[in-house]
Amino acid sequence: MSRSSEHESGNSQISCKRTLHRLALRLRAAVVRPHRAWCMRGRMANQTAPMNVLFYHRVSNRHANDWTISVRQFRRHVEHCRRHLEPVDLAEVQQRVRAGKNPRPTFTFTFDDGYAENMDHAIPLLLEHSVPTTYFVTTRNVLDGSPFPHDVDCGRPLPVNTVNHVREMSDAGIEIGLHTRTHPDFANLNDPDRVREEIHGGKQELEDMIGRRVRFFAVPYGLPKQLTRLVFETSREAGLQGVCSAYGGYNIPGGDDYHLRRFHGDPEYGRLMNWLSLDPSKLRKEPFVDSCSEDAEHREGESAQSPIESRDKSLDDMSSDPNITEANTSPVRGGRCENSVSQSGPPITGTGPEWTSTTGVGAETRS
Ligand SMILES: [Zn+2]
Repeated sequence: MSRSSEHESGNSQISCKRTLHRLALRLRAAVVRPHRAWCMRGRMANQTAPMNVLFYHRVSNRHANDWTISVRQFRRHVEHCRRHLEPVDLAEVQQRVRAGKNPRPTFTFTFDDGYAENMDHAIPLLLEHSVPTTYFVTTRNVLDGSPFPHDVDCGRPLPVNTVNHVREMSDAGIEIGLHTRTHPDFANLNDPDRVREEIHGGKQELEDMIGRRVRFFAVPYGLPKQLTRLVFETSREAGLQGVCSAYGGYNIPGGDDYHLRRFHGDPEYGRLMNWLSLDPSKLRKEPFVDSCSEDAEHREGESAQSPIESRDKSLDDMSSDPNITEANTSPVRGGRCENSVSQSGPPITGTGPEWTSTTGVGAETRS
């Protein structure tokens, strides 16, 4: 067999697997949908409906990687959320967590890092649909225009937002949040002065940039190991109103209102739909995070599910393919670059077949 024939055969197998995977997702959704709807109705009656905070990085049809979603997919996410969920901003999520009451499932969009191309399609679309959005930026990259190291490592230094972009978004009603000065990994940063510089210093730079108070902070990578006590203490000291993680979790009324949970918005549509429909595996996977608040949750190993939802567990476990539930909250730093995607996946186009990430695991790859 020639090399080109082998290549075609490989592509055909991948395409076949992807089709089967989508069919499995649809079948699974059809099986669990009635039960999950019942669970959701129970939560709505109890006013304990989940508040979904999604995070994205980059919306573009060019240069695919694991932190990029196509314009077409993104539009589909926006339209779905607008149709089925209540839009609320982060401050409202906090208020409802604190009040212990939320009668309807909600959604909030967030972005991390600060990619210039988001100005082309994502931001206009979010504004057009009045989607409550917080845009977290890494200040040093915005101020000096340097690309993010993870893109440089991939050989594709993508353009970052400019100061004018950030001001423009802020003026248009997008909330601007802090994503540190230099995007450090707090799991390896225990020096209080360095942490203070990243949080206090970044907040000050951002406020000088937009002329408004910065209220929220998204921790780079956002996994449990980065959510250190020092990070939370420094954030409170800096006067930040809330801290966002990215390990994948819901915000449930009555929990810790300082620590806001987020999950990926950018994996394939079927997986996102699974998470938006009250995935019990997410409810079971709440890690221990000490945010230093008086009412901080200490729920490690404790099931947060209701008796109703526990019945959904069996259904969920029946199809507990880690590819279709966010089963893995392990720290996966650095997703796949364009090269690795383009070898196995179709190109991203605005009108072509829907592109899906090839990571195959719903882990939080980076934030
Ligand atoms: Zn980030």
